[in-house]
Amino acid sequence: MSWAGIIDKYREFLPVSSKTPVVTLNEGNTPLVPSPVLSDRLGLEVYLKYEGLNPTGSFKDRGMTVAVSKAKESGASAIICASTGNTSASAAAYAARAGLRCVVLIPKGAVAQGKLSQALIHGARVIAIDGNFDQALMMVRRIAQTEAITLVNSVNPYRLEGQKTGAFEVCDQLGGKAPDFHAIPVGNAGNISAYWMGYGEYYEKKIVGSKPVMLGFQAEGAAPIVKKKIIKDPRTIATAIRIGNPASWKSAENARDSSGGVIDTVTDKEILEAYKLLADKEGIFVEPASAASVAGVLKLGRTGYFEKKLKSMKRATLVCVLTGHGLKDPDRAIASVKKPKTVAANLNAILKAVKL
Ligand SMILES: *Cc1c(COP(=O)(O)O)cnc(C)c1O
Repeated sequence: MSWAGIIDKYREFLPVSSKTPVVTLNEGNTPLVPSPVLSDRLGLEVYLKYEGLNPTGSFKDRGMTVAVSKAKESGASAIICASTGNTSASAAAYAARAGLRCVVLIPKGAVAQGKLSQALIHGARVIAIDGNFDQALMMVRRIAQTEAITLVNSVNPYRLEGQKTGAFEVCDQLGGKAPDFHAIPVGNAGNISAYWMGYGEYYEKKIVGSKPVMLGFQAEGAAPIVKKKIIKDPRTIATAIRIGNPASWKSAENARDSSGGVIDTVTDKEILEAYKLLADKEGIFVEPASAASVAGVLKLGRTGYFEKKLKSMKRATLVCVLTGHGLKDPDRAIASVKKPKTVAANLNAILKAVKL
């Protein structure tokens, strides 16, 4: 077998040795899908990095394989995380694989059903708190300081190390080139920081000749970086980015500023429009938070952002990261469409309803 998962594929870039027990579910190697509809609308060559096709349905698996392998190497017997859902789904699966215990703290009532079912079926101890994600993260950070349990939130540096392989893959898939623009949703801000780190490493090793302009998007009701203040009660239907005090705040600002990019807001309405556009016109089903990157570039497109930037660039490429699968949040999908019609079980009635 040539490689299995991101640790084997990008070993030389990762903090692992021959002694590290690799805990993998063959994460990574996700498709970079061309987007004709967005390309047409934006006048750019747009690609969608479909991270929903990772083993547990989100990009979190890239970081989790490294964090859990390192936890196992250090002799840990248990891991803990706070989560809006996908981190817990990923942690629970990799802990099951590694034979470690897993504890997750979630904000009560604010985790999508698909994600909750994953954490539970993989045998994690799931504790819902009467509070939000930021409070849950504060609690697990304190618990990990005093108890013999390894924290696997993205404040664990191994998470970002693993997640940066997303940038390597994009460059590899574009034939050894970085895209001109990289668009991504921003919640706890680990992923934008990790991608920027990955592009930087490929650039320093001269595997690519440039780095992209980084475009991050927060939901309007959960936009601490854009508004330059902690949001006490963040609100958005995109639960994966419902975060008011991002752990990687500074490094996200650094990614934005060093790349000459922007971090902007998108409304829930814009997120849901992009969510439906991806499903309707591109055949790609993502969870709402993932659609924030697409909503964001459509917003920038409307304001003429690309035309202004593009004076110096021809045939520019833009990659949107689609962070999680649509099946994570089936309730949102059902709430966004018309319910199926029930008709009598006879041919005439059915043909009438088909109306070809
Ligand atoms: C975790 C997550 C995000 C946010 O990523 P951060 O690293 O917290 O900024 C966005 N979308 C999905 C689907 C996620 O699971």
